[in-house]
Amino acid sequence: MTKLLLIILDGVPYRNWRRLFGNLEGWVEQGEARVRQMRSVLPSTSASCYASIHTGLPPQVHRIWDNADIRRLEFPDVFGALTKAGLKTGAVTHSYWSEFFNRAPFDVVRDIEYDEPEGPITHGRFHTMHGYGHANQMTPSDYDLFGTLTRLCEVKGIDYGILHTCTLDSMGHRFFHDCEEMDHACGHLDAVLAPFIHRWRQAGYEVIVTADHGQDARGHHGGTGEEQRDFAFYYFGTSPLPPEDQVLDQLALAPSILTRMGVPVPATMTAAPFLTG
Ligand SMILES: [Zn+2]
Repeated sequence: MTKLLLIILDGVPYRNWRRLFGNLEGWVEQGEARVRQMRSVLPSTSASCYASIHTGLPPQVHRIWDNADIRRLEFPDVFGALTKAGLKTGAVTHSYWSEFFNRAPFDVVRDIEYDEPEGPITHGRFHTMHGYGHANQMTPSDYDLFGTLTRLCEVKGIDYGILHTCTLDSMGHRFFHDCEEMDHACGHLDAVLAPFIHRWRQAGYEVIVTADHGQDARGHHGGTGEEQRDFAFYYFGTSPLPPEDQVLDQLALAPSILTRMGVPVPATMTAAPFLTG
C-alpha cells in the first residue's frame, strides 16, 4: 500500500518554483523527484481550488465561487474515500479544509484540532488566519506546520496527509513576485521543507509538493493566464507520469491520489488519473 503526503504551498507561480526552490530542483536534477506543470481550475481562487483539489470537480459543479460562503461540501472527496477504505487521514491546513470536508461552520475550540477515528479527517490540525490583512498575514510558521504533519505520520501513523500553508500566497499579495522579499521567502521555505521531505521519504511516504494556483506579477490570481493558473507539481514516488510537455489538470489530482493509494475512485471524479496504482 502506498502512503502519500500532499504538500500545498498556496499561490506560487510556475516560474518561481523552477527558479527559486533549489532543494526541490536538486532532487529533480539527481533523479529522485520528477516535476511537471499543473494548471488550476477557473476561477484560480484559493477556496475554489481547494474544493477542486479534493473533489476532482470544477467550481461550476461544487459552486465554491470565491473565498466567501464556505460550507460543508456535499460531494465525495479524497478524505471520505480513504477513510471508507479503512485508511487514516491527516490534515494540517487552513480551517477551510475542515469546513469543506468535515463540518461547518468552524468552531475554533471544537475544531482547532481533533482525532476522530471514523473520519473523514482522522487527525485534523487547523489554523484560521483570523484577522488576516495586507499588513499582518497571520500565517503560522511553516516549520511548525511541517513538524505537526510529521507527528501525525510518526505518532498517529496516517496513511495520507495534506499540509497547506498560505505563507507565500500572502507574501505575494503583499510584495508581488519579482522582488528580493519573495526570492528570500521562496528560498527559505524550500530550505525549511527539505529536511522534512527527507524524513517523510525515509518513513516510506511518497510526497507531492505543489500549489493551488499561481500568482501574476501584481500578486493577483483568480483569472486566466499562465501566471495566475500554473504551478509546479513535484513528485517523489515510483508511479509513471505523463510526458514532460503535458500540462497536468488539477481536476485529475484527486483521482490520481486515490488510484495511487489503491482506493476506488468515486464516480463523480471523472478526470483520468495521471498516477497509476
Ligand atoms: Zn490560494
